[in-house]
Amino acid sequence: MRKKYIIALDQGTTSSRAVIFDTGTMEVKYIKSKPHKQIYPQPGWVEHDPEEILAAQVEVMREAVRDSGISPCEVACIGITNQRETVVVWDKSTGKPVYNAIVWQCRRTAGLCDRLKNDGLQEVIKEKTGLVIDAYFSGTKIQWILDNVPGASEMARKGELLAGTIDSWLVWNLTGGKLHVTDYSNASRTMLYNIKNLDWDEDLLHKMDIPRSIMPRVVPSSGIIGETCEDILESRVPISGIAGDQQAALFGQACFDEGTAKNTYGTGCFILMNTGKRPVESRHGLLSTIAWAIGSEVEYALEGSVFNAGSVIQWLRDEVGLIKTARDSEAEAEKTGDTGGVYVVPAFTGLGTPYWDMYARGLIIGITRGTRKEHLVRAALESIAYQSMDVLEAMKADSGMDVTELKVDGGASANNFLMQFQADIINMNVIRPKIIETTALGAAFLAGLGTGTWESKKDIQGKWVPDKVFIPSMDDDTRKRKYSGWKKAVERSMNWDNS
Ligand code: ADP
Repeated sequence: MRKKYIIALDQGTTSSRAVIFDTGTMEVKYIKSKPHKQIYPQPGWVEHDPEEILAAQVEVMREAVRDSGISPCEVACIGITNQRETVVVWDKSTGKPVYNAIVWQCRRTAGLCDRLKNDGLQEVIKEKTGLVIDAYFSGTKIQWILDNVPGASEMARKGELLAGTIDSWLVWNLTGGKLHVTDYSNASRTMLYNIKNLDWDEDLLHKMDIPRSIMPRVVPSSGIIGETCEDILESRVPISGIAGDQQAALFGQACFDEGTAKNTYGTGCFILMNTGKRPVESRHGLLSTIAWAIGSEVEYALEGSVFNAGSVIQWLRDEVGLIKTARDSEAEAEKTGDTGGVYVVPAFTGLGTPYWDMYARGLIIGITRGTRKEHLVRAALESIAYQSMDVLEAMKADSGMDVTELKVDGGASANNFLMQFQADIINMNVIRPKIIETTALGAAFLAGLGTGTWESKKDIQGKWVPDKVFIPSMDDDTRKRKYSGWKKAVERSMNWDNS
């Protein structure tokens, strides 16, 4: 039977999905998804049940195969992409997690991070891992489990436990406990991995009291890693691609050349830029990270995040009631030619890249007696584009590379007004692809490249099809005037809630 399908397992923060791609057309043949519980044991703490996630992931894969009518023998390979930084620690002999998964959003290890900062490790960690010290990353989460679960630290020292991000947990289970691995992109989000010499860092492991033996072996993001055991699907299928969700999206957008970038417009915005074979150390509040490794070729990326993007539209809809659906924001904004001088800064939870001000709060400024609903809605949408511009400016400054176009995906990328304004304000083409399931597509591309469905990234480039290109049409003076107004507004929102 011809192996014409690739399954992408997309294990996200709120749900597990299986996406079947037809390798001939690279169209989505079938998608199945299942949500899982969000567990909030205390304010600021977030957990998932690893066994629920595993069961859901296997179930959606089986159902997708069954409901789409394909045979497991037609599946060439599986690619995995996952919510990043979330950790699981499990017992090597029973396969049972010793604690729930601690999710990337969880703030419980802020104190452990303060300790690392007080020990003066900020510069060292940045230099080695490309990251800033934050509870967001995996290292202190593993440390917390070992410190707080009775007996865990002792078991870890005896080599009886295994730790890993969600990709490790899935691969270990899908292969019947044969493989304890993670890929380079996921490893680079742990705050334990040296992204330059490509190894777990002994000093950092020591600082966080984590025995090296519990950490997974790091494998390429593309290439055959192992096979699923028979009871998963009726046939053994190679697992040949793994990447963290944002890196998978960068790959799914075919951002293979230095200086190519993508922006995912969801609740927040995640912008990644390929920096090629060298890690770029940021001086403008970006993270340096591993994009992927194809065989032994490692490529790097710069990453910036905007905390509140699509959420400002949710806020207009749910709390303020100015619009009925997120989609209505487009027609509302189009009712007016500009915002009438109004700016919205949606710093609901502080500001991310490049400002990193957790005390900033949202503001609306420039209101006059003539300000109407449509001005406010338009200003809210424009704020998403301005914040993305801030990140792209930081990327240009850090890398010295010229970004020439921006590829886009995510829920809010459906908004044509926003995409046109984005193109205008960054003065580059904004390109929306035909398949906006870019995360799953990236995992499928990595997997297919690993089994020889495609020979090279060049082959894949031909499979990436643009749908709509937004071409900038704003004159320089207007662009500069608008953007400098934004900068002024941001300044006023900063350092507000610091009592
Ligand atoms: P996430 O993965 O973060 O949940 P999605 O990629 O599903 O996000 O996108 C949902 C976000 O996009 C929501 O915040 C929503 O307000 C916003 N959104 C969805 N459609 C539109 C639209 N047409 N215009 C503007 N924002 C939109």
